[in-house]
Amino acid sequence: AEADLIRAQRFESLAMLAGGLSHDLRNLLQPLLLAGDSLRDYQGDPRLMRLGNLVRDCGKRGLEMVHSMLSFARGARRAERVRVGTLMSAFGLLMQGSVPRSVVMDLAIDDPELAFEGNHTELQQCLLNLCLNAIQAMPDGGNLRIETSQQRLAEDFFLAEEEPCAGHYLRISVIDSGPGMDQAVLEHLFEPFFTTKEAGTGLGLVSCKRIVASHGGVMRVDSKPGDGTRFDLYIPLDELEADAAAPDDMQSLEGAA
Ligand code: ADP
Repeated sequence: AEADLIRAQRFESLAMLAGGLSHDLRNLLQPLLLAGDSLRDYQGDPRLMRLGNLVRDCGKRGLEMVHSMLSFARGARRAERVRVGTLMSAFGLLMQGSVPRSVVMDLAIDDPELAFEGNHTELQQCLLNLCLNAIQAMPDGGNLRIETSQQRLAEDFFLAEEEPCAGHYLRISVIDSGPGMDQAVLEHLFEPFFTTKEAGTGLGLVSCKRIVASHGGVMRVDSKPGDGTRFDLYIPLDELEADAAAPDDMQSLEGAA
């Protein structure tokens, strides 16, 4: 599991580098393309027109490369049907070798049959990051609890920087009885490369946030010094998948498709 995590965090650094580079490159290439266009407009001078074409073609090729780099940075995601029970039992197995004897881990799955569109591997990675953080925060042992349940979120739940999207969500919580975090740590928690560990990468939570966001979800943290830490992931469910699913709605939707 640890090796998987290191691989994922390496990918994360590479993706961040690619993302940053492509962004800067795009900003450089755009004026170059415009310059190529203006050169081509010198109708009278075939040499300038040829030069203009050259600048334009190279710029265009560069932009294409930038686009493929950007899609790599976003990760070519495969969406699949994720069943909560399957996700959590696979995760339990994955964790088996990584939980020290001094840590008591328990899983509380509210509805294993619940399913949604998502990416199994990414979600495992995300949970793994959170659980290993929790374990590392409890060198002398403690409790690690993972809970899932369904929750309705109202519009006022969302923060100003988030797209408010009221509806049914799957909540996955990772709760530890460790030392918790103070305000100084909480403020920088989701910044790339922020770490308080000697050998930390500071990319674990960045990666979690990106994965949850790519599922259309949001993440919350609740932590106080001396009071443990709780991370909540909220993944949106289709209205049809949520408890409230009514057979009539399903028919009308199928008919419309
Ligand atoms: P890393 O684990 O490489 O430091 P993360 O982004 O995963 O990177 O975490 C950033 C920091 O957040 C950690 O260095 C640690 O200080 C803090 N942190 C994360 N999870 C917990 C937790 N469960 N309990 C206490 N501190 C935590």
